Amino acid sequence: MAKKNAVPRVAMPEQEPQVRARNFLEVPTGYTVKMAQEEAARCLQCRKPGCVAGCPVEVDIPGFINLITEGDFTGAIRDLWGKNALPAVCGRVCPQEIQCEGLCIVGKKGEPVAVGNLERFCADWERENGTGELPPVQPSTGKKVAVVGSGPSGLTVAGDLIVKGHDVTILEAFHKPGGVLVYGIPEFRLPKAIVAQEVNFLERLGVKVECNAVVGRTVSIDELFEQGYDAVYVGVGAGLPRFMNIPGENYVGILSANEYLTRANLMKAYEFPKVDTPIPLGKKVVVLGAGNVAMDAARTAMRLGAEEVKIVYRRSRDEMPARVAEIHHAEEEGIELFLLTNPTKYLGNEKGRLTGMVCLQMELGEPDESGRRSPVPIEGSEFEIECDLCVVAVGSGANPLLTSETPDMQLNQWGYVIAEPETGKTTKRGVWAGGDIVTGAATVILAMGAGREAANSIDKFLELGW
Ligand SMILES: Cc1cc2nc3c(=O)[nH]c(=O)nc-3n(C[C@H](O)[C@H](O)[C@H](O)COP(=O)(O)OP(=O)(O)OC[C@H]3O[C@@H](n4cnc5c(N)ncnc54)[C@H](O)[C@@H]3O)c2cc1C
Ligand code: SF4
Repeated sequence: MAKKNAVPRVAMPEQEPQVRARNFLEVPTGYTVKMAQEEAARCLQCRKPGCVAGCPVEVDIPGFINLITEGDFTGAIRDLWGKNALPAVCGRVCPQEIQCEGLCIVGKKGEPVAVGNLERFCADWERENGTGELPPVQPSTGKKVAVVGSGPSGLTVAGDLIVKGHDVTILEAFHKPGGVLVYGIPEFRLPKAIVAQEVNFLERLGVKVECNAVVGRTVSIDELFEQGYDAVYVGVGAGLPRFMNIPGENYVGILSANEYLTRANLMKAYEFPKVDTPIPLGKKVVVLGAGNVAMDAARTAMRLGAEEVKIVYRRSRDEMPARVAEIHHAEEEGIELFLLTNPTKYLGNEKGRLTGMVCLQMELGEPDESGRRSPVPIEGSEFEIECDLCVVAVGSGANPLLTSETPDMQLNQWGYVIAEPETGKTTKRGVWAGGDIVTGAATVILAMGAGREAANSIDKFLELGW
């Protein structure tokens, strides 16, 4: 055992920082078979594996890793699919460092087994070399389910219910399915062709996908029941942008990360003028916030040709909510962090264009209700940052489009849907909800975990009733 622990983790090859900072190609390039088997051999095959306890969808991690060591990659991907409908996505974007890898025993004395990289390897191997053989689907039950929203939670519900023999239709407001996986997370972290392939896998199983369908506008939930659906799952996410509400917010050159990333990713503005989506190109860009969304916006700005990109955040590095790997990648690409810094107003010129912002230096005070030490302004510490583009990534809220049109589905004080934690049942009969529209902005795997629980509950309801 000691010998295995001493073996260093196999690093995932990636593009050089100076090169990748100017292109939209994926940053890590993936394990070869040899690398994957070397890394898989570091797993101790624990009888009580911590990694599984740390996985919100309880993937049999030692099981699939063992199949990699045996060279049975088809078996490994089948094992993964049993618990996770989107392994190519999760292997790339899950915060493994605080989940499976955070509880891996090997991590106690060195670096944990690279569970995420191995999961990605299996999914990529299947895509490139697999037989394309589908898992078995049970005979038709004749029951119809509508899934509203095609983000990771909706896709999970659809995948789980289709194999149980139900007739599943996904209704998606945008022209492409995938939710944040296609409009939020950039191409250089999650290639859109990979998301499309995962959606295609569900379509081949029989899931129908209707895009440009805005439930609450083009059709109501009650009308879906009138059309013959037996159950509805609401997975509409939390994509309503928040702003700072400070003076000068209307200057040209200030936009939400949601709009910026949607233009860049979903509408492929980085290929302008080949595609006809314009995007503001800043030379001196400031991104406000320090989550994954902020890192994605900053790294996108760099790739769109910015001369300098600054991330401005009011707390310290320890409180930054982004994944450690994303912060590391951003800094390697030349993005500067302005920590303990809070903007108080935007500055503009006579044409109404953004020219900069006034900021205050902060220090950390007592912990607030979130348990994090709250930032306190340092008197007289004002200073200016010059910029011609500001992308605001300070969080998002519940999108009211569907919920405002469904008055008998109860919401909490922040506009999120109230759903039973173990089942996802809402207060409206026949309607379940999960993912960001219930929890507020969270993670891909938590949205998938909620989808899995709701799918189990919907399946029981279709068999036994409410
Ligand atoms: C830029 C960015 C980067 C992120 N990076 C990470 C990361 O690295 N790792 C991680 O784990 N998480 C990350 N997250 C968070 C993660 O993506 C979300 O928690 C997750 O996507 C939530 O899934 P969901 O299915 O609840 O909703 P979403 O993915 O938001 O999908 C909701 C879907 O519903 C559709 N919809 C909305 N209203 C309607 C309607 N009325 N009718 C029909 N369809 C509708 C939307 O168009 C959307 O497609 C990131 C988020 C963002 C924005
Ligand atoms: S905890 Fe680590 S070593 Fe143990 S089974 Fe999981 S991945 Fe392998």
